[in-house]
Amino acid sequence: MIIELKNDISPEKLAELAAQVKAFHIMDGEKSVFITSSGMKEVPAELENYAKNSWAMPNDMQLASREYHPKTREVTIGNVTIGGNTGNTIVIAGPCSIESETQITQSSEMLKSHGLTALRAGCYKPRTSPYSFQGMGLKGLKLLAKMREKYDLSVVTEVRDATHVQDVIEYSDVIQVGAKAMYDQGILRACAKTNKPVLIKRGFGTTTQECVQAAEFVLSGGNTNVMLCERGLRTFEPNTRFTLDLCGVAWFKEKTNLPVILDPSHAMGYRYGVPDLTRACTAMGVDGLLIEVHPDPSVAKSDASQQLDHDMFADLLKSLPPVAEAVGRKIV
Ligand code: PEP
Ligand code: MN
Repeated sequence: MIIELKNDISPEKLAELAAQVKAFHIMDGEKSVFITSSGMKEVPAELENYAKNSWAMPNDMQLASREYHPKTREVTIGNVTIGGNTGNTIVIAGPCSIESETQITQSSEMLKSHGLTALRAGCYKPRTSPYSFQGMGLKGLKLLAKMREKYDLSVVTEVRDATHVQDVIEYSDVIQVGAKAMYDQGILRACAKTNKPVLIKRGFGTTTQECVQAAEFVLSGGNTNVMLCERGLRTFEPNTRFTLDLCGVAWFKEKTNLPVILDPSHAMGYRYGVPDLTRACTAMGVDGLLIEVHPDPSVAKSDASQQLDHDMFADLLKSLPPVAEAVGRKIV
């Protein structure tokens, strides 16, 4: 249950009441709210004199639910806002991994030339094999910060495990929690303690409900800047890397108030399919797209087969505005 409290309650009293009813207390925009377990159906007697409004929730999708907060939440990435009434579909792009200063400079200049604002590159890569390239780590984060300064870009980068979560929070503008990391509650709880936007990628064997519950770990800790990302599920189909769950995206849009980002690159796994899939994603009327693009995909140290080259990416970008417009959105 979510219980909105009156505004004149002292912090000491709030802490005492929260302990009594075993609730999280957060400021959700202007609202001061308690979030209790979802089984609660009525405002507890202890809160009768303090409650202003309440929402009984059928399950543990609470702060993310449209029943509680009907509008899509706004999230600001650098100087671009998505969600709310903006109608914006942000293109977040860049190489899978940052590999060198030359490479990331080429990527940054290419994004700027298209008027894009969000550079994404991984520094801590959650590879399936320990023998594969693991990412540049802190050195990579510092290079991304340099690109932010030099090109006025916002930086999106992923956290692989709790050992470097504070570094990623410090250096990034958006913290990406990858498909393999989204169950790590140490990461989610650390993301809850910052105000920076968090992009939670749905695991490839994760239900939509479980994905939203991962988001609730961040929301209930007080950070309401959360976005969901669908990047494909593992199915019986071997010819594509994953299977993009657009039905799940329709569900996220209908039931949750979190901005939704679609990642066609990881879903497809092969660059030939990425442009068509990106247009299909755009037609879903989502809040953002995450595309992998590399100055020379043939030498990429991770996800080489799915990254577009700069020419393919330019052609793709040209094709997106009319698709977005057809569903009442604009590419930013
Ligand atoms: C990535 O974004 O480069 C990545 C590793 O993605 P995912 O977590 O979706 O596998
Ligand atoms: Mn990748």
